[in-house]
Amino acid sequence: MRAMVLERQAPCEENPLILRELSVPEPADDEVLVRVEACGVCHTDLHIVEGELPPHRLPLVPGHQIVGRVVACGPKVTGISSGERVGTPWLFSVCGECSFCRRGRENLCSKARFTGYDVDGGYAEYFLAHKDSVYPLPEGYESPEIAPLLCGGVIGYRAYRATETQKGDILALFGFGSSAHLVLQMGLYEGKEIFVFTRSPHHRELARKLGASFVGGAEDDPPSPFHAAIVFAPSGFLIRRALERLAPGGKVVAAGIYATPVPEIPYELLYQERVIQSVANSTRQDVRELLEMAGRYRFRVVYEVYSLEEANEVLKKLKKGQVQASAVLVP
Ligand SMILES: [Zn+2]
Ligand SMILES: [Zn+2]
Repeated sequence: MRAMVLERQAPCEENPLILRELSVPEPADDEVLVRVEACGVCHTDLHIVEGELPPHRLPLVPGHQIVGRVVACGPKVTGISSGERVGTPWLFSVCGECSFCRRGRENLCSKARFTGYDVDGGYAEYFLAHKDSVYPLPEGYESPEIAPLLCGGVIGYRAYRATETQKGDILALFGFGSSAHLVLQMGLYEGKEIFVFTRSPHHRELARKLGASFVGGAEDDPPSPFHAAIVFAPSGFLIRRALERLAPGGKVVAAGIYATPVPEIPYELLYQERVIQSVANSTRQDVRELLEMAGRYRFRVVYEVYSLEEANEVLKKLKKGQVQASAVLVP
C-alpha cells in the first residue's frame, strides 16, 4: 500500500513526508483493518511533523481524522462488520483502569495512545484501528466531507461544551479554520451569537458567510463583551486578549495542543470568577455526541480535497494559513 511516512521531524518546507510502499498490516486480536477513503489534515499533524511535539515513534504514518471501510476484524472485535463505513479520531486507546479512565475522563489517561502519533494513522491506503476507536458515521455526508468532524469537529465540540454557554449567549472564536468553522455552526444551531477574531481576509469572509455577527482582528473591539471564548490559534497572547473582553463569570477555553507562552495576567482580568481552561484530546462520549449532532444537524463542512502524495504541500498551506477551512487527503 502507498503511505506518506515521516522518518525524521523537519520543517514541512523540507518535504519530510516520504511516499513509501508498505505491506498492508494484519489486525491483532483487538484491531480493525480499515481501507482509508479520506483523512483530514490537522494542525497537530504539522506539530508532529515539524517537531513542536516530541516524537513518540519514527518512522510514523501521521493522520488522525480517518474515514474508511472495514476490511477485516481481529477475533476480539464485536459489533463491527466488514464493509461498514467508520471513522477514527485522535484518541486511539486508553488503559481503562486509572482514576481518569474510571471517571469518564479518559482523555487525560497517562497511558492514552493516539492515532497517527503512537500508532500509524491515515496518510495511507490502509490502517489499523483499535476496536474502541472506530465509530459508525451518520449518512448524508461524503467521506472527505465528514473526515474533518473527527478532530476539528470533536475537539471543537469538547471546547464548545466546556464554555458552558447557553442560548442567547455570545461566544467568541479566536482563530478560524477547520475546527472553528464547525464550532460556529454548533453555536448558531443552539441559539448563540458568534463573534470571530481572525487575521486572514478569506477566513473573515467565510466566518461572515456562515453567520458570525461580528468579524474582526484581535486588535479590534467587538460591540460588546462576550460570555465565553474559544482560542483555536496556538497563541498565548490571544488567551490573554480574550480575557480582556470576557464578561464576569465567563470562561476562556484554549483548544490547542500547543501554544506560545501566555503573557502576564493582572489579577483584575481574572477576578469576578473568570476562568481559563484548556481542553486536551477528547473522550469517546465527545465523539459519540458530536456524530449524533451531525446526524440531526447537517453541518456545512468547507473542505478541499488533495491526493495522498500532496501531503507535504497541504501541510505547507496549512502553516501559511492558506487552507480556508479543512483539508482532506484522499488515497
Ligand atoms: Zn487533530
Ligand atoms: Zn487510563
